Amino acid sequence: MSTMIAARLHAFGAPMTLDRIPMPEPRPGDVLVEVKACGIVPNLARVVSNFFGTQTPDLKAMPPLPAIFGLDPTGVVAKVGDQVRSIRVGERVYVNPARCCGSCRMCRSGQVLDCPNFTFQGYFGRSQEIMRAYPYGGFAQFITAPASALVKLPDNVSFEAAARLGYFGTAYAAMKKLGVGPGQSLLVNGISGTLGLCAALLALAMGATKILGTGRNAALLDRVKALAPERIDVFAMADGPSGSQPDPFVAWAKAATDGYGVDGMIDCLPPGAPASAMMRALQTLRRGGRAVNVGAVMEVLPLNAFWLMTNRIGLQGSVWFTTGEGEEMAAMAGAGTLDLPVLKHRVSPLSQVNEAIAGMADRDGGFTNFVVDPTRAD
Ligand SMILES: [Zn+2]
Repeated sequence: MSTMIAARLHAFGAPMTLDRIPMPEPRPGDVLVEVKACGIVPNLARVVSNFFGTQTPDLKAMPPLPAIFGLDPTGVVAKVGDQVRSIRVGERVYVNPARCCGSCRMCRSGQVLDCPNFTFQGYFGRSQEIMRAYPYGGFAQFITAPASALVKLPDNVSFEAAARLGYFGTAYAAMKKLGVGPGQSLLVNGISGTLGLCAALLALAMGATKILGTGRNAALLDRVKALAPERIDVFAMADGPSGSQPDPFVAWAKAATDGYGVDGMIDCLPPGAPASAMMRALQTLRRGGRAVNVGAVMEVLPLNAFWLMTNRIGLQGSVWFTTGEGEEMAAMAGAGTLDLPVLKHRVSPLSQVNEAIAGMADRDGGFTNFVVDPTRAD
Protein backbone atom coordinates (compact mmCIF):
# COMPACT_ATOMS: atom_id res chain seq x y z
CA MET A 1 0.00 0.00 0.00
CA SER A 2 1.37 3.44 -0.86
CA THR A 3 1.63 5.99 1.93
CA MET A 4 2.09 9.72 2.43
CA ILE A 5 3.12 12.18 5.14
CA ALA A 6 0.50 14.36 6.80
CA ALA A 7 0.68 16.81 9.69
CA ARG A 8 -2.03 15.64 12.09
CA LEU A 9 -3.57 17.18 15.21
CA HIS A 10 -4.13 14.49 17.84
CA ALA A 11 -5.35 16.78 20.64
CA PHE A 12 -6.56 20.38 20.69
CA GLY A 13 -3.88 22.62 22.10
CA ALA A 14 -1.08 20.11 21.31
CA PRO A 15 1.36 20.49 18.39
CA MET A 16 0.64 18.66 15.13
CA THR A 17 2.84 15.63 14.42
CA LEU A 18 4.05 14.30 11.07
CA ASP A 19 2.47 10.88 10.54
CA ARG A 20 2.81 8.36 7.74
CA ILE A 21 -0.71 7.38 6.68
CA PRO A 22 -2.25 5.50 3.73
CA MET A 23 -2.46 7.42 0.47
CA PRO A 24 -6.13 8.16 -0.26
CA GLU A 25 -7.81 6.81 -3.41
CA PRO A 26 -10.14 9.25 -5.22
CA ARG A 27 -13.80 8.17 -5.37
CA PRO A 28 -15.40 8.20 -8.88
CA GLY A 29 -16.24 11.95 -8.86
CA ASP A 30 -13.14 12.99 -6.92
CA VAL A 31 -9.55 13.87 -7.75
CA LEU A 32 -6.27 13.27 -5.95
CA VAL A 33 -4.12 16.41 -5.76
CA GLU A 34 -0.43 16.50 -4.90
CA VAL A 35 -0.18 19.56 -2.63
CA LYS A 36 2.50 22.09 -3.64
CA ALA A 37 1.50 24.89 -1.24
CA CYS A 38 -1.16 25.48 1.39
CA GLY A 39 -1.98 28.87 2.87
CA ILE A 40 -2.13 29.36 6.63
CA VAL A 41 -4.93 31.61 7.80
CA PRO A 42 -4.22 33.84 10.81
CA ASN A 43 -7.17 32.35 12.68
CA LEU A 44 -5.78 28.80 12.52
CA ALA A 45 -3.80 29.11 15.77
CA ARG A 46 -7.05 29.79 17.60
CA VAL A 47 -8.89 26.98 15.84
CA VAL A 48 -6.34 24.26 16.64
CA SER A 49 -6.32 25.37 20.26
CA ASN A 50 -10.09 24.73 20.09
CA PHE A 51 -11.12 28.34 20.54
CA PHE A 52 -14.57 27.54 19.15
CA GLY A 53 -14.98 24.54 21.41
CA THR A 54 -14.24 26.59 24.49
CA GLN A 55 -16.44 29.48 23.34
CA THR A 56 -19.55 27.52 22.47
CA PRO A 57 -18.90 24.12 24.19
CA ASP A 58 -19.73 22.59 20.80
CA LEU A 59 -17.14 20.15 19.50
CA LYS A 60 -19.45 19.10 16.68
CA ALA A 61 -18.07 21.96 14.59
CA MET A 62 -14.54 20.56 14.76
CA PRO A 63 -13.20 17.64 12.69
CA PRO A 64 -12.76 14.27 14.42
CA LEU A 65 -9.23 13.70 15.72
CA PRO A 66 -6.63 13.00 14.52
CA ALA A 67 -7.34 15.76 11.99
CA ILE A 68 -5.45 17.14 9.00
CA PHE A 69 -5.84 20.92 8.76
CA GLY A 70 -4.94 23.24 5.88
CA LEU A 71 -7.67 25.38 4.30
CA ASP A 72 -6.13 26.71 1.07
CA PRO A 73 -4.31 23.96 -0.84
CA THR A 74 -2.88 24.34 -4.32
CA GLY A 75 -1.12 21.67 -6.34
CA VAL A 76 -1.14 19.34 -9.30
CA VAL A 77 -3.82 16.77 -10.14
CA ALA A 78 -2.22 13.35 -9.61
CA LYS A 79 -5.18 11.07 -10.30
CA VAL A 80 -8.83 11.44 -11.32
CA GLY A 81 -11.87 9.27 -10.48
CA ASP A 82 -13.42 7.34 -13.37
CA GLN A 83 -16.42 9.73 -13.58
CA VAL A 84 -14.29 12.89 -13.88
CA ARG A 85 -14.55 14.28 -17.41
CA SER A 86 -12.91 17.70 -17.74
CA ILE A 87 -9.95 17.61 -15.39
CA ARG A 88 -6.68 15.96 -16.43
CA VAL A 89 -3.73 14.61 -14.52
CA GLY A 90 -1.00 17.27 -14.38
CA GLU A 91 -3.29 20.30 -14.26
CA ARG A 92 -2.39 23.07 -11.78
CA VAL A 93 -5.26 23.81 -9.40
CA TYR A 94 -6.50 25.53 -6.26
CA VAL A 95 -8.84 23.33 -4.21
CA ASN A 96 -11.86 25.28 -2.94
CA PRO A 97 -12.39 23.75 0.53
CA ALA A 98 -16.11 24.64 0.59
CA ARG A 99 -17.96 21.34 0.95
CA CYS A 100 -21.74 20.97 0.96
CA CYS A 101 -24.20 18.07 1.10
CA GLY A 102 -24.97 18.22 -2.63
CA SER A 103 -28.64 17.26 -2.35
CA CYS A 104 -30.53 19.70 -0.10
CA ARG A 105 -32.82 22.38 -1.55
CA MET A 106 -30.05 25.02 -1.51
CA CYS A 107 -27.45 22.72 -3.11
CA ARG A 108 -29.92 21.59 -5.76
CA SER A 109 -30.66 25.19 -6.65
CA GLY A 110 -26.96 26.00 -7.01
CA GLN A 111 -26.64 28.02 -3.80
CA VAL A 112 -24.04 25.72 -2.28
CA LEU A 113 -22.75 28.29 0.22
CA ASP A 114 -26.23 28.32 1.79
CA CYS A 115 -26.22 24.55 2.42
CA PRO A 116 -27.20 23.92 6.08
CA ASN A 117 -24.31 21.39 6.18
CA PHE A 118 -21.71 23.84 4.80
CA THR A 119 -18.28 22.58 5.89
CA PHE A 120 -14.69 23.67 5.29
CA GLN A 121 -12.44 20.79 4.28
CA GLY A 122 -9.29 21.02 6.39
CA TYR A 123 -10.77 23.47 8.90
CA PHE A 124 -14.19 23.09 10.62
CA GLY A 125 -17.85 23.11 9.70
CA ARG A 126 -21.42 22.02 10.20
CA SER A 127 -21.28 18.34 9.20
CA GLN A 128 -19.20 15.62 10.84
CA GLU A 129 -20.27 13.32 7.98
CA ILE A 130 -18.73 15.62 5.36
CA MET A 131 -15.58 16.05 7.48
CA ARG A 132 -15.23 12.25 7.57
CA ALA A 133 -15.81 11.98 3.80
CA TYR A 134 -13.11 14.62 3.07
CA PRO A 135 -10.64 14.34 5.96
CA TYR A 136 -7.59 15.64 4.06
CA GLY A 137 -6.51 19.24 4.63
CA GLY A 138 -3.61 20.85 2.78
CA PHE A 139 -0.98 20.10 5.44
CA ALA A 140 -0.45 16.72 3.76
CA GLN A 141 1.37 15.54 0.66
CA PHE A 142 -1.89 14.56 -1.06
CA ILE A 143 -5.58 15.35 -0.67
CA THR A 144 -8.79 14.15 -2.29
CA ALA A 145 -11.57 16.57 -3.23
CA PRO A 146 -14.59 16.69 -5.54
CA ALA A 147 -13.61 17.56 -9.12
CA SER A 148 -16.20 20.38 -8.94
CA ALA A 149 -14.07 22.10 -6.25
CA LEU A 150 -11.08 22.77 -8.51
CA VAL A 151 -10.07 26.23 -9.72
CA LYS A 152 -7.65 25.87 -12.64
CA LEU A 153 -4.59 28.10 -12.24
CA PRO A 154 -3.04 30.05 -15.13
CA ASP A 155 0.66 29.24 -15.69
CA ASN A 156 1.78 32.68 -14.44
CA VAL A 157 0.03 32.29 -11.06
CA SER A 158 2.34 30.60 -8.56
CA PHE A 159 1.14 27.91 -6.15
CA GLU A 160 2.20 30.16 -3.24
CA ALA A 161 0.20 33.15 -4.46
CA ALA A 162 -2.86 31.01 -5.24
CA ALA A 163 -2.73 29.68 -1.68
CA ARG A 164 -4.13 33.12 -0.72
CA LEU A 165 -7.28 32.61 -2.81
CA GLY A 166 -9.39 31.84 0.27
CA TYR A 167 -8.95 35.35 1.59
CA PHE A 168 -9.25 36.90 -1.85
CA GLY A 169 -12.42 34.91 -2.45
CA THR A 170 -13.97 35.91 0.87
CA ALA A 171 -13.50 39.56 -0.08
CA TYR A 172 -14.49 39.01 -3.72
CA ALA A 173 -17.85 37.36 -2.99
CA ALA A 174 -18.66 40.20 -0.57
CA MET A 175 -17.64 42.89 -3.07
CA LYS A 176 -19.78 41.33 -5.80
CA LYS A 177 -22.73 41.66 -3.41
CA LEU A 178 -21.88 45.37 -3.15
CA GLY A 179 -21.68 45.84 -6.92
CA VAL A 180 -18.10 47.15 -6.73
CA GLY A 181 -17.09 48.47 -10.13
CA PRO A 182 -16.50 51.52 -12.32
CA GLY A 183 -17.79 54.80 -10.90
CA GLN A 184 -18.25 53.26 -7.47
CA SER A 185 -16.57 54.14 -4.18
CA LEU A 186 -15.70 51.57 -1.55
CA LEU A 187 -14.52 51.82 2.05
CA VAL A 188 -12.40 48.89 3.23
CA ASN A 189 -12.55 48.88 7.03
CA GLY A 190 -9.20 47.36 8.04
CA ILE A 191 -7.44 47.72 4.67
CA SER A 192 -3.91 46.68 5.66
CA GLY A 193 -4.78 43.28 7.15
CA THR A 194 -4.84 39.91 5.40
CA LEU A 195 -8.44 40.26 4.28
CA GLY A 196 -8.44 44.03 3.77
CA LEU A 197 -5.39 44.04 1.48
CA CYS A 198 -7.07 41.38 -0.66
CA ALA A 199 -10.16 43.61 -0.85
CA ALA A 200 -8.04 46.58 -1.93
CA LEU A 201 -6.28 44.60 -4.68
CA LEU A 202 -9.61 43.23 -5.90
CA ALA A 203 -11.24 46.69 -5.87
CA LEU A 204 -8.44 47.90 -8.15
CA ALA A 205 -8.97 44.91 -10.45
CA MET A 206 -12.76 45.33 -10.46
CA GLY A 207 -12.47 48.95 -11.53
CA ALA A 208 -13.62 50.77 -8.39
CA THR A 209 -12.94 54.45 -8.87
CA LYS A 210 -12.35 55.52 -5.26
CA ILE A 211 -11.02 53.14 -2.60
CA LEU A 212 -10.92 54.40 0.98
CA GLY A 213 -9.28 52.38 3.73
CA THR A 214 -8.82 52.43 7.48
CA GLY A 215 -6.08 50.95 9.61
CA ARG A 216 -4.02 51.53 12.72
CA ASN A 217 -0.46 51.19 11.42
CA ALA A 218 0.51 54.32 9.43
CA ALA A 219 3.50 52.67 7.72
CA LEU A 220 1.35 49.78 6.47
CA LEU A 221 -1.36 52.19 5.33
CA ASP A 222 1.26 54.08 3.30
CA ARG A 223 2.23 50.82 1.59
CA VAL A 224 -1.40 50.16 0.70
CA LYS A 225 -1.85 53.68 -0.68
CA ALA A 226 1.31 53.28 -2.77
CA LEU A 227 -0.40 50.48 -4.72
CA ALA A 228 -2.46 53.14 -6.54
CA PRO A 229 -1.98 56.61 -5.01
CA GLU A 230 -4.54 58.28 -7.27
CA ARG A 231 -7.34 55.82 -6.38
CA ILE A 232 -6.60 54.80 -2.78
CA ASP A 233 -6.88 57.09 0.27
CA VAL A 234 -6.21 55.93 3.81
CA PHE A 235 -7.18 57.09 7.29
CA ALA A 236 -5.20 56.08 10.40
CA MET A 237 -7.60 55.32 13.25
CA ALA A 238 -6.61 56.14 16.82
CA ASP A 239 -7.58 53.99 19.80
CA GLY A 240 -10.98 54.49 21.42
CA PRO A 241 -13.98 56.51 20.23
CA SER A 242 -13.45 59.43 17.90
CA GLY A 243 -13.82 61.87 20.78
CA SER A 244 -15.15 64.73 18.70
CA GLN A 245 -18.50 65.25 16.95
CA PRO A 246 -18.96 65.16 14.07
CA ASP A 247 -16.57 62.20 13.66
CA PRO A 248 -13.55 63.50 11.65
CA PHE A 249 -13.24 60.08 9.99
CA VAL A 250 -16.82 60.26 8.66
CA ALA A 251 -16.20 63.84 7.53
CA TRP A 252 -13.06 62.65 5.68
CA ALA A 253 -14.99 59.88 3.87
CA LYS A 254 -17.77 62.29 2.87
CA ALA A 255 -15.24 64.85 1.62
CA ALA A 256 -13.61 62.16 -0.54
CA THR A 257 -16.97 61.32 -2.15
CA ASP A 258 -18.32 64.79 -3.02
CA GLY A 259 -20.26 64.88 0.23
CA TYR A 260 -22.37 61.80 -0.51
CA GLY A 261 -20.62 59.10 1.51
CA VAL A 262 -19.34 55.81 0.10
CA ASP A 263 -21.41 53.52 -2.12
CA GLY A 264 -20.21 50.38 -0.36
CA MET A 265 -18.35 49.29 2.76
CA ILE A 266 -16.63 45.97 3.35
CA ASP A 267 -15.78 45.30 6.98
CA CYS A 268 -12.51 43.35 7.33
CA LEU A 269 -11.77 44.04 11.00
CA PRO A 270 -9.85 41.36 12.92
CA PRO A 271 -11.10 39.34 15.93
CA GLY A 272 -11.20 41.52 19.03
CA ALA A 273 -12.08 44.73 17.17
CA PRO A 274 -14.85 46.64 18.98
CA ALA A 275 -18.36 47.15 17.63
CA SER A 276 -17.70 50.91 17.67
CA ALA A 277 -15.06 50.48 14.93
CA MET A 278 -17.65 48.90 12.64
CA MET A 279 -20.31 51.47 13.57
CA ARG A 280 -18.03 54.33 12.54
CA ALA A 281 -17.49 52.70 9.14
CA LEU A 282 -21.24 52.21 8.66
CA GLN A 283 -21.68 55.95 9.24
CA THR A 284 -19.61 56.68 6.12
CA LEU A 285 -22.23 55.09 3.81
CA ARG A 286 -24.23 57.34 1.52
CA ARG A 287 -28.01 57.23 1.51
CA GLY A 288 -28.85 53.86 -0.08
CA GLY A 289 -25.33 52.55 0.56
CA ARG A 290 -24.63 48.92 1.38
CA ALA A 291 -22.23 47.15 3.72
CA VAL A 292 -21.06 43.56 3.80
CA ASN A 293 -19.37 42.08 6.84
CA VAL A 294 -16.62 39.50 6.38
CA GLY A 295 -14.65 40.62 9.44
CA ALA A 296 -14.63 39.16 12.92
CA VAL A 297 -16.24 41.78 15.15
CA MET A 298 -17.99 39.74 17.85
CA GLU A 299 -19.44 42.48 20.03
CA VAL A 300 -23.13 43.25 19.54
CA LEU A 301 -23.61 46.29 17.32
CA PRO A 302 -25.66 49.19 18.74
CA LEU A 303 -27.52 49.40 15.45
CA ASN A 304 -30.40 51.83 15.04
CA ALA A 305 -33.01 50.14 12.82
CA PHE A 306 -34.79 53.46 12.30
CA TRP A 307 -31.55 54.93 10.91
CA LEU A 308 -31.18 51.90 8.60
CA MET A 309 -34.72 52.39 7.31
CA THR A 310 -34.72 56.14 6.82
CA ASN A 311 -31.31 56.06 5.10
CA ARG A 312 -32.10 52.93 3.05
CA ILE A 313 -28.91 51.27 4.37
CA GLY A 314 -28.19 47.59 3.59
CA LEU A 315 -26.10 45.35 5.85
CA GLN A 316 -25.31 41.74 4.97
CA GLY A 317 -22.97 38.99 6.11
CA SER A 318 -20.94 36.86 3.70
CA VAL A 319 -18.88 33.70 4.06
CA TRP A 320 -16.43 32.27 1.52
CA PHE A 321 -17.00 32.06 -2.25
CA THR A 322 -18.05 29.67 -4.98
CA THR A 323 -15.67 27.75 -7.21
CA GLY A 324 -17.02 29.87 -10.09
CA GLU A 325 -15.93 33.02 -8.26
CA GLY A 326 -12.54 31.31 -7.78
CA GLU A 327 -12.29 30.84 -11.55
CA GLU A 328 -13.04 34.55 -12.07
CA MET A 329 -10.23 35.53 -9.68
CA ALA A 330 -7.80 33.09 -11.32
CA ALA A 331 -8.62 34.68 -14.68
CA MET A 332 -7.98 38.19 -13.29
CA ALA A 333 -4.68 37.02 -11.77
CA GLY A 334 -3.71 35.40 -15.06
CA ALA A 335 -4.45 38.62 -16.94
CA GLY A 336 -2.44 40.61 -14.40
CA THR A 337 -5.35 42.87 -13.44
CA LEU A 338 -5.35 41.25 -9.99
CA ASP A 339 -1.87 42.04 -8.69
CA LEU A 340 -0.67 38.97 -6.76
CA PRO A 341 3.09 39.72 -6.99
CA VAL A 342 2.79 42.33 -4.19
CA LEU A 343 2.51 39.43 -1.72
CA LYS A 344 5.72 38.35 0.01
CA HIS A 345 5.67 34.60 0.58
CA ARG A 346 7.02 33.05 3.76
CA VAL A 347 7.27 29.38 2.88
CA SER A 348 7.78 26.66 5.52
CA PRO A 349 8.33 22.93 5.03
CA LEU A 350 5.66 20.61 6.43
CA SER A 351 7.97 19.71 9.32
CA GLN A 352 7.80 23.35 10.49
CA VAL A 353 4.01 23.63 10.38
CA ASN A 354 3.60 24.30 14.12
CA GLU A 355 6.26 27.01 14.07
CA ALA A 356 4.70 28.53 10.94
CA ILE A 357 1.26 28.74 12.58
CA ALA A 358 2.71 30.21 15.78
CA GLY A 359 4.91 32.63 13.81
CA MET A 360 2.00 34.40 12.15
CA ALA A 361 1.81 36.95 14.94
CA ASP A 362 4.94 38.46 13.37
CA ARG A 363 3.68 39.70 10.03
CA ASP A 364 3.75 42.68 7.73
CA GLY A 365 -0.02 43.13 7.76
CA GLY A 366 -1.59 41.43 4.77
CA PHE A 367 1.57 41.68 2.66
CA THR A 368 3.11 38.57 4.23
CA ASN A 369 1.68 35.35 2.81
CA PHE A 370 2.25 32.33 5.07
CA VAL A 371 2.47 29.07 3.16
CA VAL A 372 3.37 25.48 3.97
CA ASP A 373 5.05 23.51 1.18
CA PRO A 374 4.65 19.74 1.74
CA THR A 375 7.06 18.93 -1.12
CA ARG A 376 9.98 20.56 0.70
CA ALA A 377 12.22 18.55 2.93
CA ASP A 378 13.29 20.51 6.02
ZN1 LIG B 1 -26.82 20.98 0.80
